[in-house]
Amino acid sequence: MKYSALALVRGALSGGRSWGPAWRNPEPKPRYQVLIIGGGGHGLATAYYLARNHGVRDVAVIERGWLGGGNTGRNTTIVRSNYLFPESARLYDFSLKLYESLSRELNFNIMLSQRGLILLAHSRHDLESMSRWANAMQMNGIDAQLLTRDQVAERAPLLEMSPEARFPVLGGFLQRRAGTARHDAVAWGYARAADSLGVDIIQNCEVTGFSRAADGAVSGVLTSRGAIAAERIGIAAAGHSSVLAKLAGFALPVTSYALQAMVSEPVKPALDTVVLSPGTGAYVSQSDKGEMVLGASLDLFPSYAQRGSFAITQSILAATLAIFPAFSRLRLLRQWAGIVDVVHDSSPIIGATPVPNLYINCGWGTGGFKGIPVGGWTLAHALATGRSHELAEPFQLSRFMSGRLIDEAAAAGIAH
Ligand SMILES: Cc1cc2nc3c(=O)[nH]c(=O)nc-3n(C[C@H](O)[C@H](O)[C@H](O)COP(=O)(O)OP(=O)(O)OC[C@H]3O[C@@H](n4cnc5c(N)ncnc54)[C@H](O)[C@@H]3O)c2cc1C
Repeated sequence: MKYSALALVRGALSGGRSWGPAWRNPEPKPRYQVLIIGGGGHGLATAYYLARNHGVRDVAVIERGWLGGGNTGRNTTIVRSNYLFPESARLYDFSLKLYESLSRELNFNIMLSQRGLILLAHSRHDLESMSRWANAMQMNGIDAQLLTRDQVAERAPLLEMSPEARFPVLGGFLQRRAGTARHDAVAWGYARAADSLGVDIIQNCEVTGFSRAADGAVSGVLTSRGAIAAERIGIAAAGHSSVLAKLAGFALPVTSYALQAMVSEPVKPALDTVVLSPGTGAYVSQSDKGEMVLGASLDLFPSYAQRGSFAITQSILAATLAIFPAFSRLRLLRQWAGIVDVVHDSSPIIGATPVPNLYINCGWGTGGFKGIPVGGWTLAHALATGRSHELAEPFQLSRFMSGRLIDEAAAAGIAH
């Protein structure tokens, strides 16, 4: 069914009876050409691009819970491509470009809002590193603009701009094409489009092990709903990637941490850009419903508990109020966490694993929502062709053997 204004009218006139389910709920078949573990954005996008770009339609996505119930439905929805190194710039800007046409392509409104993202400079040193960063982006063909103190104040009038402030704002750095997108819609849009191309989406089905052929290659998975055979398998399980790697018999340089976020009660429009303060760790945007969406740093100990520690909740709030004191009157509505897969060079891993026929897409850590389109595109390429996509070439697992790391967080001085 094509979603359109006309379909909306028809739906209203039929009392809602003309709407069908957005995707099927099939029983798993005993065998598929390709299996993807993880029904988050990356797994669903992989399934969609396998079918659309490569014509591989005998595909199933296996999700142990519900679609988007992992980090894809728990993140703060920021999309951007303000990266320093050419390899990351290429990867993330390709993703942002796919986002820019995704609503039309999927026939599903992902509510992309390119409201711009400002990084705040709190010191002369921040200003210097931001001008280097903006220059690097421009050389990579990505929009970037340095802002004076007054230009920052104009774009975010509620920011604390006093020179006496604990974190004074000296200027900033803007990526205009950055912004937010609706996280659930990204998962649902890819799911619906993949399903319409023949992909089976199987929820409430946990992968508990791998079956292997005599030559050691994976030949299928064991699940809570029985064994399923496959020629090739892709893992897109974010915070649980190292658990699945262990089941397959190899180790990943990934540590899983809880990353938390929270929203305030909804208020009238007060902030129409995304503000990120590397100095305090706080970042804030206002959702379309009016809630202030707040986030900051990771819990500093490995964990699989999707709660987040109280100490970090407190520090996120303190950091937010240091830059937006006016928000102290807001009441907090919800707080939650997701388990992110952090790699020590803060870059993703996309491609082959040491186990033949098993591929992986992980390590996006705190910033993989923006990477969903390109993560799916490049993992689909690896699964369909057996070779890594040129954009994913620098992000192979083998880089931890060769030592050629692309450390964005260390270079930019902030966590990605
Ligand atoms: C609080 C928070 C804020 C964030 N903010 C941003 C942001 O603003 N911008 C940004 O770009 N990124 C952000 N991120 C990061 C981003 O959300 C993730 O990098 C991204 O969603 C990862 O997508 P995914 O599809 O790989 O993982 P997920 O969405 O986590 O999907 C993985 C799926 O695998 C399933 N799974 C796990 N084990 C198994 C198994 N054994 N069998 C079957 N299924 C299994 C899980 O149930 C899960 O649904 C944030 C993350 C958090 C937690």
